[in-house]
This record gives sequence, structure tokens and C-alpha cells, in this order.
Amino acid sequence: MMDASGSSAQANKTMRGIGSSHSFGLAAGVSGKRLALLGLALIALPAWASSAPPDVPKYSVTFDAQLTHADVRLCLDRAHAQVEFAPDSARAMRFLSAMRRSSTGDLQVVGGSWLARDWAAGECVAYTADLAAIVDQGSDAGKRYGKNLVTDPQQWLVRASAQGASGAEATMELPEGWSISAPWRELSRNGTSIRFKIPDTPQDWSASLVLGEFEQTRIDLPGGAVRVALLNGKGGEQARLAEWLRIEAQALLGTYGRLPVADVQIWLVSVDSASLAKRYAGMIEPGAVLGGESARGQGNALQLDVDPSRPAQEFVEDWTAIHELSHLLHPYLGDRGSWLSEGLATYYQNVLRARGALLSPEQAWERLASGFQRSEGGPYPQSLEQAAANMGQSPAFQRVYWSGAAYWLGVDVDLRRATRGKITLDTALAAFRGCCLPAYREWKPEEFVAKLDGLAGVHTFTRQYHRFAAMKRFPDWRATLARLGVNGSQDALTFGADAPDACIREAITAARIDVANAPDQRDGSAPQTGVSGIRPHCLPQ
Ligand SMILES: [Zn+2]
Repeated sequence: MMDASGSSAQANKTMRGIGSSHSFGLAAGVSGKRLALLGLALIALPAWASSAPPDVPKYSVTFDAQLTHADVRLCLDRAHAQVEFAPDSARAMRFLSAMRRSSTGDLQVVGGSWLARDWAAGECVAYTADLAAIVDQGSDAGKRYGKNLVTDPQQWLVRASAQGASGAEATMELPEGWSISAPWRELSRNGTSIRFKIPDTPQDWSASLVLGEFEQTRIDLPGGAVRVALLNGKGGEQARLAEWLRIEAQALLGTYGRLPVADVQIWLVSVDSASLAKRYAGMIEPGAVLGGESARGQGNALQLDVDPSRPAQEFVEDWTAIHELSHLLHPYLGDRGSWLSEGLATYYQNVLRARGALLSPEQAWERLASGFQRSEGGPYPQSLEQAAANMGQSPAFQRVYWSGAAYWLGVDVDLRRATRGKITLDTALAAFRGCCLPAYREWKPEEFVAKLDGLAGVHTFTRQYHRFAAMKRFPDWRATLARLGVNGSQDALTFGADAPDACIREAITAARIDVANAPDQRDGSAPQTGVSGIRPHCLPQ
């Protein structure tokens, strides 16, 4: 869930713990990898900046039947004065062997990369990657689940410095009976040969390529598809979990009727939560969803640790999947902007479940009120922005997530009040999808809110952004909720029909009808979807 910490930049991680619906583990600081790569990029820059236009590198990959090794061939269409080939860390070079050029030109090891001068159009490099050694690391870079392998492809598909913004292509020849789950977009398929487009994203954004004998379910929705793979499940579990994620992904359409991005990789790891709870006594409770992580390397992906043996109702009641899916609505905003990104997912995890009838409106407001109440504190020595930037080192999660949720709630209410419901957070994000998603680079938080203002023709996002970023106390959520007609404490909330913003409250959590059948709107505007549960006088005039 975390939008910036974890073992590599750009992962959002969640681990479930005891005592609250939010708890966070696995939060290492930003990795040194990111800084190291920055250095590499600076060295590489003059090489390709001075040569031919960027290339679309083409990988061809074959595997041995046991999936212990991959033979990789990488070709470039154009000539270049020089090209560097590098995995995402210098350490990963040890997994690659027999690196050679298709021509007689030389190939030198320089720092963490191979350097080829006088590169001719159509030339290739070829090498062998030791997949078994990569997965035996047992880290985010490589892991084994039974017979299935998970690797970060950036560990072994070397990046060519000549690659441009259009990314790369890969043709994967799978052994008979094997499946692949990748964040990439599938272009074509011919028997066991599958051709993919690999988006060009920063090399320190983590990605997961899953290879092995598993089922994959494609769920088509307006605007794209999510692909669900359960790595180590038993018979029947795949279908049940895919159906659960279809409902969750459909709830995400409660924003603007379409998936935010066209391709989403979802891979599930089956865990036995009861035995984990025993082993980590007091840290973990048995439950349907034990953790979640979203990643943006080479495309959009999310990973969930699930316990298929838990009752179906626990899956429906869990917020993790819709939280992670909500991260698809925004670009990566860096550590400093994590209060915005986590706040958005925290706000939507509740209102989208109400819109998708997974919660009643009253339950959604109760979750929001209790989240705010649980998290309020202060005054704090650090501003919200400072706390967000340092979240990996401090226990500021609750404050950061829920202050952020209060920001988005406040902005949504302000927009709806000022425009009588014509402009909302949903319509602004729909326009953002139209212009700017998928986002394959980091956005500064100021840039994101300014874009939303520009698209919606307002100043609300930026004005409130500056106010919240500087805040050294918890935001005044009680006043906002009171205007919405939500009063009382978390155990005994009352809902006033005559409060000044009562109609806005009803509109925010009203069930959306027919979101799954919304028309495909290429301009990114919100499709016309019906709502239910709003009193007639509250409907937009
Ligand atoms: Zn999150």
C-alpha cells in the first residue's frame, strides 16, 4: 500500500496486523538502488543523447523445459555510435552469462553494464540468464512458489540505453503447458509464442514476471482488462478468487465508469493465515487478505496475499483489493506526495465500496469517521508533507493516510457544493485519465493537483493542497462530517437529512447503476450512469 517505501521505489505495500484495520510492515526506506541508478543514467545519457533516434528494442526469449535458464536475444533496428546494456542493478550482472554480439564488434564491461561501440542497424546481443539463481534469492527480485517462478524481469532482460519512450517488445517462447503473468500488454499469440509490448518506465520501479503452471483469468471491463493469476492455489480457488476480484474491479468503475488503465496484472499468492498468525503471534490475525502491494514497473500490477480457506464474506468485507485498485487512478507521486496517493486510496476504498453495494452508505461513512477518529492526534512537530516524506522511518502511517483521505473528501465536497454536483473528484480524475494515464514517470504532487485544477477549471485542488501539506495538526474532519450530516462517535453515528451538505453526502456514496455497462467514452469524460439512494430533491438539476 505504501506508495514510496518498500524494497524498491514505487511499490505500495500493506501488511495486516492486529488491533486496527490498518497496519504496516515491510517498510524499509527508499532503497539505495534508486540513487545508484541515477548515477548510471547520468553516465549513460551522453551515449544515447548524441546518437541515432531512440529504438524499440526487441527481445526474444526461450526457456529450457525446467525453467532454470532463459536464452535471451536482444536486437535493435537502428545504428548507434554506442549502446549500453544493463540490468537494473550491477549485482544482477552475475546472473547473466555468455554475453555476445551478433557482429564481430567488441563488447566491454564498464561499471554495471556492457558497452558496445559502432553498433550497426539490425545487430543483436545474446546471453543466458540464470533464472534458478535469481529466484533462489527469495527476495522481491526473485522468488519461487512451488513450481512457479517470480522474477523482476529488469534483473535479467537488460535495458538498452538506446530505448526510447515507446518502450520495448518481447516475444516469449514458453515451454508447453506453462503460463506467463506480466505487467506488459499482450500484442499477439501464436501457440506457445506470445508477443508483448513493454512500457518504458524508470528502471528502479519494480515489476514482477510470473512463469509456471497456473491458471489465469482475464476479466474484460469498460476501458480495459484485469488478468488474475493464483500462483499456488488448489482446484476451484482460481475461479472463486477471480470472481471476487471481478466484483472489486467493477467497484472501481464507480469513479467514472472505466478502468483507469487498459492493462492490469493481478497475481495472488495463497497463504495459510492461521499458521502465519501462530508464527507471528500478535502481529498477524487470520484473515482473507493478509497484504497487498501495487507496482508500476513496466506496466500496472498488484499483488495480494490471500487465504482461500477463509469464508467468502471475509473477502467481500476486506478493503485491501479496492484500496490497491484505487492507486491506478493516480500517477506515482513520490514519497513527498504519498499523503495524496494514500489518502486517495483510503478515501475511495470506502466510498467505492458503497457505490458498488459492498457496503451500505451508512457503513461507508462509519468507516471514514472511525478512520479519522482513530488517526487524529497532534499537534505534530512535522508538517504533513514532512511526515509523508519520512513515513518509512516513522510510525506516521495513520496520520498520513487519513489526513490525505480528509483532503480528498474536503475537495470532493467543495467541488460538488460549488458546482451543484457538475464537477466532482470523479469527473476531474476522469479527465486526468483522458490526458495523462497510464503515467510512466513520476509526477510531482504539485504538478498533479495543478493538472486536476486545470482540467476541472478550478483552483480547489492546489489551494487545499498547500493548506494540507503544511498542516501540523490533524485536519478538522468533524466539521466536514457535521456539514454532511454525519454526527456522533464511531459507535453511534446519526445521519441528518437537513444538514447543509446532506445532499452531497448522499451523492458521494449513492449506488451506481449499470457501471459495468457504461459506454466506452474515448474523451475520458464520465459516462452517464444512474444512481440510486438519493432523495429526488438532491439530484443534480
Ligand atoms: Zn496504498
